[in-house]
Amino acid sequence: MDIATPNDYRAIAAGLAFPSEAFINGRFVAARSGARFTNLNPATAAILGEVAACDEDDVDAAVAAARRAFDAGAWSRAAPEARKDVLLRLAALLREHAVELAVMESLDSGKTITDCLNEVGHEVPNFFQWYGELIDKSFGKVAPTDESALALIVHEPVGVAGLVLPWNFPLLMAAWKLAPALAAGCSVVVKPAEQTPLTVLRLAELAAQAGLPDGVLNVVPGFGETAGQAIGRHRDIDVVSFTGSTEVGALFLKYASESNLKPVGLEMGGKSPFIVLDDAPIDDALVSNAVSAALWNGGQNCSANMRQFVPRARKDEFLDKVLARVAALTVGDPLDPATEMGAMVSADHQRRVLGYIEAGIGEGARVVAGGGALEGHDGYFVKPTVFDDVVHGMTIATEEIFGPVLGVIAFSEPEEALRMASDSVYGLHATVFTRDIDRALHFARRLPCGTVSINRFSEGDIKTPFGGYKRSGSLARDNGTEAIAQYQQTKTIWIGGPEG
Ligand code: NAD
Repeated sequence: MDIATPNDYRAIAAGLAFPSEAFINGRFVAARSGARFTNLNPATAAILGEVAACDEDDVDAAVAAARRAFDAGAWSRAAPEARKDVLLRLAALLREHAVELAVMESLDSGKTITDCLNEVGHEVPNFFQWYGELIDKSFGKVAPTDESALALIVHEPVGVAGLVLPWNFPLLMAAWKLAPALAAGCSVVVKPAEQTPLTVLRLAELAAQAGLPDGVLNVVPGFGETAGQAIGRHRDIDVVSFTGSTEVGALFLKYASESNLKPVGLEMGGKSPFIVLDDAPIDDALVSNAVSAALWNGGQNCSANMRQFVPRARKDEFLDKVLARVAALTVGDPLDPATEMGAMVSADHQRRVLGYIEAGIGEGARVVAGGGALEGHDGYFVKPTVFDDVVHGMTIATEEIFGPVLGVIAFSEPEEALRMASDSVYGLHATVFTRDIDRALHFARRLPCGTVSINRFSEGDIKTPFGGYKRSGSLARDNGTEAIAQYQQTKTIWIGGPEG
């Protein structure tokens, strides 16, 4: 269907039935306590509905269902082709329901419908397809031995995986983890962020329709301190994969150490640099990359390139062009396909972002665009904001803001930019613009982060691993064939073999 107008999307929104219960053992169920929380549309502050608020009891029920399914083997020990068939059917169902899911995601998160259609309608199904197609092409190894022995190295699913998700890309982050976990043969218990529970619940229903056995995929909506902590501390969850803030990631390490020492994969925050070297032309492509690197998704992006390092002599030219592009950004109704930036995810988050803008002003940085809430809306909008005169070490140049803020930091020598860019507790992403291949390689090698992108702001795609150095991540990686390793154990089988 070719849908283009805001009214078309509003009509779809009006007809949507929002999921409201937990999904455990193949069916929707209320939280055992009966508790519910209110789910808002952050673009209008209107109530979308009430959702089951799961706690430890519900996580127990979900883990028990996941364990039963895992032990029964209908999924965990199924032929790779059988798991592939289900994941490909799920990919097809997701494509079939793409518009419905995209509208639901936009209402739940304040993200633009354009981004939701791309992520939910396009990238998410591709993840299930890609990992589905990988399963029957992944081989173990045979170690070299003499002919009296055979040493096999095989991979087995870890067991029950707990997946704890953020709100900034609700269904995409779910797909990043769910697709490889299911492909590996694990059973899973998923906790969506409390701000954005809807689309993962709908996905669980579609997965059942695609033929996923009951109990393999369970979803427990609820709050971090209750449902999230119960997953982290559960003694019958074998592995946790978490995406969210560095503070909460640290809690998951504590939960694991105080329970069953489950391995924990962490994808966390960032404070990523965008570096313009003096040989790079400040043309339309560079400027549009600079703006989207900082402001795409309202800056609610783990790899947002908020710190923009520009040669002192070219700063005015850079700022003039950036300001012209920012002034042309359309901010507002997320259901309008013309909108380029939607709302912050919640009133709390809007307050947090505005607090950072105040801190920047207080420490002497200069607002040259935006700098406050967007007037005339009931929802939680922040104007796209640009700071000049940002100094390395200021709060806004150090802490993750996670909002639509771009800060310009001037440098004199490239090595000074490299030093400042590297001097962060985070290490998720960096972008470098230069025409000089030697400099590009030098920066790419020296920047301490998981992804470096040259002459374009890009986070890569499904085929390449994504994760952070330092406090941006653990050694675990999402995406690529590497992601599967989070959900598998390696077993060695000796037939015959050396004595002892
Ligand atoms: P968050 O850490 O507040 O929440 C993430 C999840 O953890 C949510 O499901 C939440 O309910 C749960 N949680 C919160 N407190 C908890 C607790 N005490 N115990 C257990 N679970 C708890 O993060 P967020 O605000 O939802 O997401 C934004 C963060 O995610 C940013 O820091 C961003 O950089 C990061 N992020 C990282 C990546 C990546 O791939 N590295 C991708 C997207 C987002």
